[in-house]
Amino acid sequence: MSTQEPPVIGKDALGREVKDLSVIPWWGVDRKKIEWHPTINYDRCAGCGLCFVSCGRRVFDWDTKKGRPVVARPYNCLVGCNTCQNLCPCNAISFPSVEYVKRLVARYAVKKAFAIVSKLTPIKASTEEAEISGTGERPVESM
Ligand code: SF4
Ligand code: SF4
Repeated sequence: MSTQEPPVIGKDALGREVKDLSVIPWWGVDRKKIEWHPTINYDRCAGCGLCFVSCGRRVFDWDTKKGRPVVARPYNCLVGCNTCQNLCPCNAISFPSVEYVKRLVARYAVKKAFAIVSKLTPIKASTEEAEISGTGERPVESM
């Protein structure tokens, strides 16, 4: 985790402040090396604007000539979030597979997160190792 304050890099088509959130590493990984962001299928997009208006991370901007959203700041997207995909009424937004993100989580995030919360709620190490294996499976208890 980083304490680096993301710089303001301008305003979007609605005049809202835009920050460069890509400077914030994701669990120690350069955010720009993680290919998690929306892709728009313009054959499906109806130009309703919901994705652009509702994403608080300013991933989208608006093409005022075409009346369509653009993925202007892909690395501002929160790794693992796919809210805009869920909200899009036209199913025009796609993301990489969830398995891609789960592999990243297993590799970089879970142990660090566990180290933080285990200070709040100490539990046995055997349970820790089982739950952070990244497989999503509970281990078979040894007899
Ligand atoms: S929410 Fe979907 S249909 Fe609406 S502008 Fe965004 S991509 Fe297009
Ligand atoms: S997934 Fe979330 S953070 Fe990423 S563009 Fe969509 S709404 Fe914004």
